[in-house]
Amino acid sequence: MPIYETVIGLEVHVHLSTKTKLFCSCPTTFGSEPNTNVCEICAGMPGVLPVLNRTAVEYAARAGMALNCTINNDSVFARKNYFYPDMPFNYQISQFERPLCEHGWLEIATGREKKRIGITRIHMETDAGKSIHSPSENKSCLDLNRAAVPLIEIVSEPDMRSPEEAAAYLKELHDIVVYLGITDGNMEEGSFRCDANVSIRPVGSDKLGTRTELKNLNSFRNVQRAIEYEVIRQQDLLEDGEAVIQQTRLYDSVRNVTQAMRDKEEAQDYRYFPDPDLVPVHIDPADLQHWKDTLPELPAARRERFMREYGLPEDDAVLLTSERALAEYLDQAVAAAPNIDPRKIANLMTGPLLRELNRTGASVQDTAMNPKALAQLAEIVQNGLISAKIAQDIFPDLCASGEMPEAYVKAKGMVQVSDTSAIDAAVAEVLKNNPAEVAAFKGGKTKLQGFFVGQVMRLMKGKANPALVNKALAEQLSK
Ligand code: ADP
Ligand code: MG
Ligand code: ZN
Repeated sequence: MPIYETVIGLEVHVHLSTKTKLFCSCPTTFGSEPNTNVCEICAGMPGVLPVLNRTAVEYAARAGMALNCTINNDSVFARKNYFYPDMPFNYQISQFERPLCEHGWLEIATGREKKRIGITRIHMETDAGKSIHSPSENKSCLDLNRAAVPLIEIVSEPDMRSPEEAAAYLKELHDIVVYLGITDGNMEEGSFRCDANVSIRPVGSDKLGTRTELKNLNSFRNVQRAIEYEVIRQQDLLEDGEAVIQQTRLYDSVRNVTQAMRDKEEAQDYRYFPDPDLVPVHIDPADLQHWKDTLPELPAARRERFMREYGLPEDDAVLLTSERALAEYLDQAVAAAPNIDPRKIANLMTGPLLRELNRTGASVQDTAMNPKALAQLAEIVQNGLISAKIAQDIFPDLCASGEMPEAYVKAKGMVQVSDTSAIDAAVAEVLKNNPAEVAAFKGGKTKLQGFFVGQVMRLMKGKANPALVNKALAEQLSK
């Protein structure tokens, strides 16, 4: 029985977040009343003349640059001919022989291993409309709001060797396109969709096995689960002496299986030809240079910088770069508190801030607590105005109200007591009230230190400076 190697290549469709569609001025807004964002052009009426949306070209080229591709200064739109009820033109406008971007790569990490996945091409194309089926009324309706919304398709080389690698690639790709600001990346609304091509072959073979293409993978988790299922299905076939058939299969996330949808068309069935209504897409080298110069710092570079400059452990760097807004929040908070170790600021983010965002379902942009406030909170803990415990306790309030922490704790009388005479008095009272524990402590049961600290804190309503409490205890117990 041979041992098999898994081979995966992904095709990812990304909605570009331009205001208008690819060839007309209809808005791309998601969730409008059906057929309110439609005109003659995107409805495919005969005789109309499409005009290319330049912002879509810019966004697509930015994706190409971020993915280390060669950008073709002249690329060509082609018609991909097939019939689909929700596609009024009877062809999709896409790119075939000369796509906008080619020959790129993306680095992924699974565990400590790093690996480059090749990007074959990125081309621009139009999305289709949507069929809405209503079995109860025995009819199907058509919504063309999404018709001709600009997409890019990012095609990888068959370089991934496990479902985990596929998931890592997809996550990294998602982070990059969202960082670039060219898409909202919303998987549930279909702004970021993935088809997975999967085959297996005996280990050591350099010939690719027959692939199936999996569709309907609408979350990172489903991509991984669908591939896992499919690999086992193909292995079972080969071991039973049967062949894998090249076909498109739909993933059913409820039953966690893939099912044959249709046998796969070959490219020539689409009769691709250059679109006679569209001139080649020309990109001015000066524009290209400008886009390159204004690319944001990408997730991988930012992760490295957070580890190098801020001294963050890798896990925290990964977490805090998982969203551009989160990473920028950290940068701003660190800049606002030059005397604080950035790791302390990062800890306030990975701990109480993310916890609070999870609890309230808010995103970091929505929280009322701005980076300056978080920086100030770290400062007043460091300078002893409040304890770390109080900082945790007041965090939800600060997030909701947006008040500055120093003003807040002063107004609420929560400022930590560093007045040694008050602490001395509280320590003396605790020792007087607990003679048995004092005797035990003096007899060697030093673990009771924590008990005494706790009692003093309780007496002082949690506001005593813990370092000073420990010091006073040591003094008085050694008498
Ligand atoms: P199509 O549109 O017919 O699916 P594409 O060339 O657009 O063809 O996409 C093919 C995708 O399938 C690419 O991501 C490629 O890496 C991947 N692929 C091709 N052959 C195999 C194979 N034998 N096993 C796994 N993936 C494959
Ligand atoms: Mg395909
Ligand atoms: Zn339109």
